[in-house]
Amino acid sequence: MARVLVVEDDQFVRSALIRHLTEAGHAVRSVGTALEALREVAHVGFDLVVLDLGLPDLDGGEALKMLRGITDVPVIIATARDDEAEIVRLLNDGADDYLTKPFSVEHLSARMAAVLRRSRGGAPGAEPPSRATRVGGLSIDPLRRQAELDGVALDLTRREFDLLAFLAERPGVVVPRKELLAEVWQQSYGDDQTIDVHLSWLRRKLGETAARPRYLHTLRGVGVKLEPPR
Ligand code: CA
Repeated sequence: MARVLVVEDDQFVRSALIRHLTEAGHAVRSVGTALEALREVAHVGFDLVVLDLGLPDLDGGEALKMLRGITDVPVIIATARDDEAEIVRLLNDGADDYLTKPFSVEHLSARMAAVLRRSRGGAPGAEPPSRATRVGGLSIDPLRRQAELDGVALDLTRREFDLLAFLAERPGVVVPRKELLAEVWQQSYGDDQTIDVHLSWLRRKLGETAARPRYLHTLRGVGVKLEPPR
């Protein structure tokens, strides 16, 4: 599912696009002018914009530049003009792809899927690679700031996530408390209790205790390490 803005002044094309995209499970909004489009993207978060070039108020190329001034949302240009120089210029101006009218809905779907895959962090034509660090059943994705344990998302605070991610980058290594304070809390000195409190919250979310550790091991007077359970 993607949130799609359709910018198209032709009522017939517009309702066909809306119908098709809605049937494909997307959340669709539509406008008929470039200025309305600018207002929409300024107020609503979209995953993709399908932009008709022949709009009544602004030249499509101008509209694209203005869109790019306020958002980096992926834009697919829909154009009746089969003009290579124009298309190259639009791609240079920040369009992600284009379709020459008339196009089939299948063609649009395929282009949309490719653009969304790219914008969501994958390589073209491939599933997005996992950037998650894995330690046993733990999976930590620093880009998305998401952590999972055995496939179940963990609801972590910012600090808990930072702590877990920092330890997960060095599995099996005992990290001194001083280093944790400096790297995770950005403090050159501090109270050991700060770390202990966050560790105990994190432990609870990982379903373990200090007495019966699985992933998080505290070595008294030395530091903390994260490693997969034996
Ligand atoms: Ca038009």
